Amino acid sequence: MEATLLLCAALVAAAPADIGLASSANFIVHAPDHRIAEDVLRHAEQYRVQLAQAWLGHTLPEGEGPVIIHVRISPDEDHAAMLPLKRPHRTHHIIWLKTSEQLACGATLAHELLHCILATKFGERLPAFAQEGCAGLEDDAAVRAVRRRILADMAFSGQYPQLRSVLDRQLIPANDQTAYTVSCSLAEFLFARGSRGTFLQFAVDGAGGNWDAAARRHYGYSSLSALEADWQRWVSNQMRLAAGDGTLRR
Ligand SMILES: [Zn+2]
Repeated sequence: MEATLLLCAALVAAAPADIGLASSANFIVHAPDHRIAEDVLRHAEQYRVQLAQAWLGHTLPEGEGPVIIHVRISPDEDHAAMLPLKRPHRTHHIIWLKTSEQLACGATLAHELLHCILATKFGERLPAFAQEGCAGLEDDAAVRAVRRRILADMAFSGQYPQLRSVLDRQLIPANDQTAYTVSCSLAEFLFARGSRGTFLQFAVDGAGGNWDAAARRHYGYSSLSALEADWQRWVSNQMRLAAGDGTLRR
């Protein structure tokens, strides 16, 4: 355990006795009470195994990519943030959660943990759109419904943001739902055309502006523009189908 993490561990150890703490080789959880801390820790350990297996094809060694998780329970809110502690390798992380107890042990925790796992593996080589496109798969139904509405507006108006501008983002702010929506939809589109590993390699290879070559190499498109046109057709068809069968109410 390196110095920054030791310092954080010392700080939480000095917290008042009524603060809940739970820890393992992989996590330090700081929550309003001990029961919640233990519950979050148990789910975090399960997600750490499941998500690494699903995205990397193997589990992470014990103690690799340790994460400090701060939890505040707020039944009507759902906010989360993740900060890498060591750059550019990003091998240590802090997660802040302000959400319901259910989401602190569920979708919101899984979303942020997947960010940590991918960052532990790829450092800063994985662009923001790919991070969010992957983590978006873990989101709950309410968050997905918001994105679906935004996607429907794009499809029915024909007004899509330029794909390259989203792919080149260094960061996607929490309030930029358009960029989140494009990232998640593009990821879903590409997951149907190749493995998760292919998607991650496309994103790593394309970062820095090499999107045409990456689209050719990994998906057989002549350029990013050709991929973009095919993605927009796919979205448009999806939205038409959803509107037709009544699952999308405008
Ligand atoms: Zn995220």
